[in-house]
Amino acid sequence: MTIVVNDNSLRIEQLQLGSFGTNAYILLCRETKESVVVDAPAEADKLIARLKGTTPRYILLTHSHLDHIGALDQLRSELKIPLAAHAADSGVLSSPPEIMLRDGDTVDFGKIQVAVWHTPGHTPGSLCFRTGNYLLSGDTLFPGGPGKTRTPAEFAQIVKSITEKIFTLDGSTQVYSGHGEPTILKKEKDEFRIFSSHPHRPDLCGDVLWLTT
Ligand SMILES: [Zn+2]
Ligand SMILES: [Zn+2]
Repeated sequence: MTIVVNDNSLRIEQLQLGSFGTNAYILLCRETKESVVVDAPAEADKLIARLKGTTPRYILLTHSHLDHIGALDQLRSELKIPLAAHAADSGVLSSPPEIMLRDGDTVDFGKIQVAVWHTPGHTPGSLCFRTGNYLLSGDTLFPGGPGKTRTPAEFAQIVKSITEKIFTLDGSTQVYSGHGEPTILKKEKDEFRIFSSHPHRPDLCGDVLWLTT
């Protein structure tokens, strides 16, 4: 467990869980002690233990790949709080989310507001969550590159999500991904600029890194 943000109003904890080391995040309103959980990779007991002393309000899902939902059923049954996800990523869940999120929605907990962005590409229903200067990017944007895509059309779509949505944020935005360490948006914008400054084969997709692809 790492505390990645601790400002006057908000604390964000990062927990790497399960055999894929997938990141879950706990966002805590410091004033009201209300919290939300972002993704439920595995090891539900660890997540639930970290929520002790807080009032959990929602489980937010960046997308429904298996390495992000391994603990979801246990979390839902023990915490009894609404799950919020995008409809296009809800089909594989064992029961539908209580809240279907759409681009432009806002999720409130305590004094904190979280903006919901639909960023398809890695999956059709991938979401990013932004609060203040912090972006939880799921598997849409990692340090050094986009999330994995299976087709050139998906790759084009994830690049569009990144450049037309995520890159509208200030370079000082801190990015917390579904895997790996945090990054700063300026670095990702700079690396993408290098990537886009030279041609790429039209069938490009898969695991892409801005600087070496
Ligand atoms: Zn994924
Ligand atoms: Zn993942």
